[in-house]
Amino acid sequence: MIIPPQAVEIPGAKHIHSGKVRDLYELESGDLLMVASDRMSAFDWILDTPIPDKGKVLTAMSLWWFEQLDVPNHILSTDVPAEVAGRAVVCERLDMFPVECVARGYLSGSGLLDYNATGEVCGIPLRDGLVEGSRLDEPIFTPATKADLGEHDENVSYDAVVATVGAEIAEALRGLTLDIYREAHARAEQRGIILADTKFEFGARPDGTIVLADEVLTPDSSRFWPADQWQPGKQQPSYDKQIVRDWLQFESGWDRKSGEAPPPLSDEVIARTRAAYINAYEQLTGEKYTG
Ligand code: ATP
Ligand code: MG
Repeated sequence: MIIPPQAVEIPGAKHIHSGKVRDLYELESGDLLMVASDRMSAFDWILDTPIPDKGKVLTAMSLWWFEQLDVPNHILSTDVPAEVAGRAVVCERLDMFPVECVARGYLSGSGLLDYNATGEVCGIPLRDGLVEGSRLDEPIFTPATKADLGEHDENVSYDAVVATVGAEIAEALRGLTLDIYREAHARAEQRGIILADTKFEFGARPDGTIVLADEVLTPDSSRFWPADQWQPGKQQPSYDKQIVRDWLQFESGWDRKSGEAPPPLSDEVIARTRAAYINAYEQLTGEKYTG
């Protein structure tokens, strides 16, 4: 269960959607304004306590990646209303493909669950003996269908993607997803970061061009692991949520199974989490976070 998120009011922009972390608006031009809030989710809850600057850091990270990647993207401008300065982008409105385009180079999360149950992920058979955090022989495309707020996305087979968008587009989405993953993985590796997996969303322009949309390669859409601590066989530490997860589980007194909302984060946990996001940005981009 999650608490419904709150979006700010922005003059001249019509609120059309809120996800766990981001709010989407339509501008008078017809373009979209995508706003990253400071909301934090953990264990499928949106926490009551925001992490200051998280939205800005993740927006900067996504923009940095869009610049690095040599594929058409949906960004039009970072000139946004003052209320959301630094944590929003103006983007072109695309006809989105209803497929979460996931690439995995390592086994974790739902991929690991599926593998343990069937030996496959999204219909792709994997060799025996893989464990939490194992590196795969080669990256795989493991698409998922988008679930409503509060629901988990569902892994589907490649054939299901073909049935949804047609063979030609399915092939293009798979190719783009794996190419971008490989490129991003190599870049992150140079910075001592493992990009274990990531999710992209693509949409089409009226002329049919396939465009990379949504956010890209942020800790909200990806698993980033510190390379020097990678150890298959156990849960890998993550850059972003580890502090909050550990605190909630082991220090806050909260019982995850109680069905009760998690308690507010302490100031100390907020400060450490904020620093972790900034550290992830700086380590990845090699640039100082200036706010
Ligand atoms: P969550 O990610 O929290 O599970 P969500 O995907 O519904 O939920 P967001 O990711 O916050 O919510 O919302 C962004 C929405 O905007 C998504 O539905 C995404 O598909 C859509 N979107 C992203 N870029 C574009 C674009 N250029 N044109 C149209 N829609 C877009
Ligand atoms: Mg989303």
